[in-house]
Amino acid sequence: MQMYDYLIVGAGLFGSVFAHEAKKRNKTSLVIDKRAHLGGNVFCENVNGINVHKYGAHIFHTNDKKIWDYVNQFVEFNNYINSPLSISNGKLYNLPFNMNTFHALWKVKTPDEAKTIINNQIKKYGFKNPKNLEEQALSLVGKDIYETLIKEYTEKQWGLKATDLPAFIIKRLPLRYTYDNNYFKDRYQGIPIGGYNKIIEGLLKGIDTQTNTDFLKNRNELSRKAKKIVYTGYIDAYFDYKFAPLEYRSLRFEHEQLNTDNFQGNAVVNYNDSNIPYTRIIEHKHFEFGKQNHTVITREYPEKWTSNKEAYYPINNKENQNRFKKYKDLADKEPNVIFGGRLAEYRYYDMHQVIASALQKAEKEFA
Ligand code: UDP
Repeated sequence: MQMYDYLIVGAGLFGSVFAHEAKKRNKTSLVIDKRAHLGGNVFCENVNGINVHKYGAHIFHTNDKKIWDYVNQFVEFNNYINSPLSISNGKLYNLPFNMNTFHALWKVKTPDEAKTIINNQIKKYGFKNPKNLEEQALSLVGKDIYETLIKEYTEKQWGLKATDLPAFIIKRLPLRYTYDNNYFKDRYQGIPIGGYNKIIEGLLKGIDTQTNTDFLKNRNELSRKAKKIVYTGYIDAYFDYKFAPLEYRSLRFEHEQLNTDNFQGNAVVNYNDSNIPYTRIIEHKHFEFGKQNHTVITREYPEKWTSNKEAYYPINNKENQNRFKKYKDLADKEPNVIFGGRLAEYRYYDMHQVIASALQKAEKEFA
């Protein structure tokens, strides 16, 4: 019955990297996913030649040469640099907060002028012991940046007033005193040429896969197929929600194809204002410098999460962390099951982080 060494539940980055590492060591895997496609949230759908990021924009970035080399085995990356814009009250600003942003806000031209304004505002509006997100942000960047570019965006994102959000959500808000619109500070950045599916195809080459297969609905039968399980699904669901569900914030994506070759001139445009229900519009072709006559855009609407929706952002408050800890204690005791990835670890992982985590778990497993 045990035809495989590993049954890998979830064909996202964690599961696919683990399966690949297992294969390198001559171990066999069956990778299953409840969705109709492989790739988890990095999955792209080709819409008339444009790779549409179906589960939110994914921009690869890392400082770790090892991770960069790892993904480059499977696909070449282009030289896309993420430089989002933000529209607030009808005006356009550059992100991250940098000299271009400060110039648009206050007409200042030099770093010293910008620092003087920001430091004065921090002095005037900041708090020694910030008790909520608003107080935290005011203490880090002052009033103008907070009110123009953070407050309403963040309230939409979480569905709560900034004064009711915990301070820990923002530990840092980097201020950059150069004219540099590159959102990430990492050494390596880009979008896979031809899309993210190529990475998944490369990782899963020669490995058995099965989509439309829900592990939890067929647990006994599927478990018998392998000696060990790598589980990347919801950790609370695995344990039948015995300590109540872990909470998330969800997103709804509204994709639209338009008969114009260039809708917004940039891949990512954020919308701060509260009267606009979405937080950003993604124009996918700009990730790959597309030359098509048409375009595809995606509006991103933050939503209350319920169990029938996709889980995106863990609500990382004390209550959920304590609940997660209880599930993790059970997971640590579960024989022959390796738990890993975003949903099993209840963590907001970037792609490079989840790959690093899967490589680490694989190294431990195959040591
Ligand atoms: N943020 C903001 N204004 C913006 C973009 C982001 O205040 O225009 C804050 C907001 O609190 C958000 C956090 O920064 O939750 C992280 O946003 P980012 O877009 O970097 O991360 P992602 O949601 O893509 O993971």
